[in-house]
Amino acid sequence: MKAVIVPEHGGPEVLRAAEMPEPAIGNRDVLLRVRAVALNHLDLWVRSGLPGRSVEFPHIPGSDISGEIAKIGSEVTNVKVGDRVLLAPGVSCGQCEQCIAGHDNFCADYVLFGRQIHGGYAEFVRSPAVNVIPIPASLSFDQAAAVPLVFLTAWHMLFNRSKLQPAETVLVIAAGSGVGSAAIQIAKVAGARVLATAGTEAKLGKARALGADETLLHGGEFAREVKKLTGGRGVDVVFEHVGAATWEQSIFSLKPGGRLVTCGATTGFESKININYIFGRQLSILGSFMGEKSELFAALELFKRGLLKPVVDTVFPLERAADAHRRLENREQFGKVVLSVS
Ligand SMILES: [Zn+2]
Repeated sequence: MKAVIVPEHGGPEVLRAAEMPEPAIGNRDVLLRVRAVALNHLDLWVRSGLPGRSVEFPHIPGSDISGEIAKIGSEVTNVKVGDRVLLAPGVSCGQCEQCIAGHDNFCADYVLFGRQIHGGYAEFVRSPAVNVIPIPASLSFDQAAAVPLVFLTAWHMLFNRSKLQPAETVLVIAAGSGVGSAAIQIAKVAGARVLATAGTEAKLGKARALGADETLLHGGEFAREVKKLTGGRGVDVVFEHVGAATWEQSIFSLKPGGRLVTCGATTGFESKININYIFGRQLSILGSFMGEKSELFAALELFKRGLLKPVVDTVFPLERAADAHRRLENREQFGKVVLSVS
């Protein structure tokens, strides 16, 4: 099958087209004919390399996958050949204490498509049948690929970790990112007041179009403006994933007793924190990683009701994966950059 692979760590230029063997499937697996795969910041890490996190080369990236069922294993009953589906991006053992309790993202064997196992930058991908979810009829393959990872992650951050309440105010950092554009929509549906930041005025306009009540540039000391917009109080919840560049201002944006939830640090992992400020104001710092599969089903239900929509920035053909990586790396996008696979 044709694929775009990472043969070694490096810049976007290392991505190249290659012939890879079509995956063999087990009794409880499906073979998916990939139609679209959306990029995540994770794809950039996998390509460029992260200290202490090995990847077996050649590697096929891509965690957000949609397509049609091409083959099913002998014990598969939940889907049939030809079904339009998307894949839950996290694969877990399905039988440990955490999995049985529904906390699959806490499973010791939890892996992601495109990270520890081959992903969707290819004609075909193998998936456990339990990861396969029907695509809501209103969504195209490109749109469906733009949903799973970011809506799952944002849902888990807002409801499971920070326990956002309807009348609260949330500050979403970097509205132009996939996860930021998902968070704005989910928080609005939940009845929260949404403040959102972005790096350019154009992105702020798009954030308002998605439902953000107030927007602000996140270049300087944006906590001051957040305080102004909240009557001097600060926000109940800060939705973080940018890290070093915004961390301090994000913490300063919280009201006393506020919660900061973070799922990443795309600008760097190191930051200072004033411990006095944390305990004196009784702040909570909450880590979050992916989400529970049931939360993806919940988000998809809101897509069916028309309350959420995928935010597709651009669609590149798979062959132009390097250009797609550059667009994401340069933060030119608003929403998801998608690769179309035909
Ligand atoms: Zn497990």
